[in-house]
Amino acid sequence: MSTDFFRPASLREAVETKAAHPDATPIAGGTDVMVELNFDRRPPGALLDLTAVPELACWERTGDGVRLGAAVTYTTVIEQLGVLLPALAFAARTVGSPQIRNRGTVGGNLGAGSPAGDSHPPLLATGAEVELVSVRGTRTVAATDFYVGAKRTALAPDELIAAVLVPLVPGPQQFAKIGPRNAMVIAVCSFALALDPAHQRVGTGIGSAGPTPLRAPDAEELLANELPWQRRDRLGDAVAQRFGELVAAAATPIDDVRGTARYRRHALAVLARRCLLWTWEELRCA
Ligand SMILES: Cc1cc2nc3c(=O)[nH]c(=O)nc-3n(C[C@H](O)[C@H](O)[C@H](O)COP(=O)(O)OP(=O)(O)OC[C@H]3O[C@@H](n4cnc5c(N)ncnc54)[C@H](O)[C@@H]3O)c2cc1C
Repeated sequence: MSTDFFRPASLREAVETKAAHPDATPIAGGTDVMVELNFDRRPPGALLDLTAVPELACWERTGDGVRLGAAVTYTTVIEQLGVLLPALAFAARTVGSPQIRNRGTVGGNLGAGSPAGDSHPPLLATGAEVELVSVRGTRTVAATDFYVGAKRTALAPDELIAAVLVPLVPGPQQFAKIGPRNAMVIAVCSFALALDPAHQRVGTGIGSAGPTPLRAPDAEELLANELPWQRRDRLGDAVAQRFGELVAAAATPIDDVRGTARYRRHALAVLARRCLLWTWEELRCA
């Protein structure tokens, strides 16, 4: 069987090719697509190589955030965006190996739509939006609405992910992940937290503990109301404990080869408490 291979040199050409060949599989870093191809999980059909599309490979500051091209790699996030997007950079440092981080992209993580993808919790915690483009035009979708089911996303067959719009949250952020070892692991579960003291707002993101990445709205509300934003006192155990419980309650994990649902809930509560203590201490010491 033969595979058509398209290599557009501009975003315009890429979306026109996708419109003409909606079944073509976009390929950016290829760190997910090539695994599927090698295991014969995906019929080759046609491939739409996005590596020569310059618009996808760069990032820029916008008024109140960062517009991250879909094909920006984890290495670029780590090297260039650690200050502006700390939670995403923390998550990027935990992805795969240097080789995977050099090839793998945030857009590819979104395109794969795996609930275990490490960029999702930071994107949820910071209120990011996903910019989708087709010959019909451009639309933005909140990250919360982008994940529609297990490995299913809001992408229409003729659409490509153009960029991720990540607001700059003026406060400390954290990401934590549990795996069987420190590197080259898909998360058993993961958690991201963003504190915004200026607006007394809290953002959360949960990974690998439900059919899609999730937020924990009740836990966010608890912290928004209970954190001593003005006095910045040391945090009481009761608030941290309750926060962990509410994060665990927001998850809908399953038992699978990486861990049981019970373990995931327990681990999420621990990660949530740790992220809270780290971020709160950072704020107190600022
Ligand atoms: C050894 C190894 C270790 C890994 N470790 C981790 C890890 O620790 N954490 C983690 O989260 N992931 C991990 N991964 C998975 C993978 O590296 C990530 O999901 C990565 O972000 C995928 O990016 P990519 O550019 O390589 O995507 P690709 O493989 O090119 O594409 C992935 C999916 O997204 C689609 N896609 C890509 N770009 C676009 C676009 N612009 N518009 C629409 N659809 C698009 C593709 O069609 C495909 O469905 C690992 C993979 C390997 C092989």
